[in-house]
Amino acid sequence: MIRFLENKLFRYLAFFYFLNSVILPVHSSSDLAAWVIKNNGFLELRTKSNSNLKAYFQKSNQIYGDRFWVDFSGELKNPRTIKGNGPIKEIRLGKPNKGKTRLVIEFKEETYLNPLTWRMVGLDQNRWRIKLFNPKYSFKNIGEGLVEKRRRNIKENQNLISKKKSDYQYLKLPEVKQNKFSVVIDPGHGGPDPGAIGIGGIRETDVVLEVSKTVQKLLSDKGVKVRLTRKNEVDLDLPPRVSFANNTNADLFISIHANASRGKRRDINGLETFYYRGWRGRLLAKRIQKHILRVSPGSPDRGVKQGRFYVIKNTRMPAVLVEIGFLTGRLDARRLEKTEHRKRLAYAITKGILEYLSKVG
Ligand SMILES: [Zn+2]
Repeated sequence: MIRFLENKLFRYLAFFYFLNSVILPVHSSSDLAAWVIKNNGFLELRTKSNSNLKAYFQKSNQIYGDRFWVDFSGELKNPRTIKGNGPIKEIRLGKPNKGKTRLVIEFKEETYLNPLTWRMVGLDQNRWRIKLFNPKYSFKNIGEGLVEKRRRNIKENQNLISKKKSDYQYLKLPEVKQNKFSVVIDPGHGGPDPGAIGIGGIRETDVVLEVSKTVQKLLSDKGVKVRLTRKNEVDLDLPPRVSFANNTNADLFISIHANASRGKRRDINGLETFYYRGWRGRLLAKRIQKHILRVSPGSPDRGVKQGRFYVIKNTRMPAVLVEIGFLTGRLDARRLEKTEHRKRLAYAITKGILEYLSKVG
């Protein structure tokens, strides 16, 4: 069925049609004022007010890869081609016929697209947004001109903040049996070992200690006994962290870290959670990963993976090591430096732990 759809119906499918009542003179300049494709997979456009847009998608053929294009009124002055990166092969700006402008995005062959879910959203009279691909593809922003005007930025930010607040509310924590469980939280590094150093000198040890302490507080409020392997900036080797957890007979062990990429690449962001063995560790990792992703929109899901880290390999209880973002990544670092985001991550980790405990015990 899917094959049929892909082969026949989608070979040439116009699926958006935006028509406003304003009719523009044929020889006016292009309605397209600015565009950007962002690393979160969104294409954003700024046009003249009340512009008419038509958007199309065409499956790949022998000549072209999958293509998405938008036609605008008004004639483009200088047709041009811009090299893509990540899932995008190239972007072409052209005039398909007199008095028109066309923006074509051609994807690389191996890119998985799901145009059935695509929706072009009009943000206001002259701004548009559509999600084209998943942020799991690493992609450097490409664009021309300024899609968002400064004045509007403030309002946008406010919207973003209130949206974040509601994300926060979503994280209602589940209940578990009081005084039944004990958990060891291990803030990575410490003391002379600051761990990763990120953009602007942000230090892993500081970030993970703050997150860990908040997790401790939230879990304690739910009647879970929590011990931290360190409460301040002390030098603590790996074996004592493990023996501490093993000696206290904790039900779970969670080591909290933040990442750095080789060469401090700012385009590398994302979250990942490791376990060493067993379905319990894997389940705990999955729960935590799911929730930390939800409070980190746009940051790539690097997945739940098996890892041979000392602290999760040698602890006897289900154990995970969670990497809450890249201190060297532009997107993650900007968030991780904020207390508010650290709190959200702590909520997310706590929610994962409580879900696990309420399910498996
Ligand atoms: Zn670390």
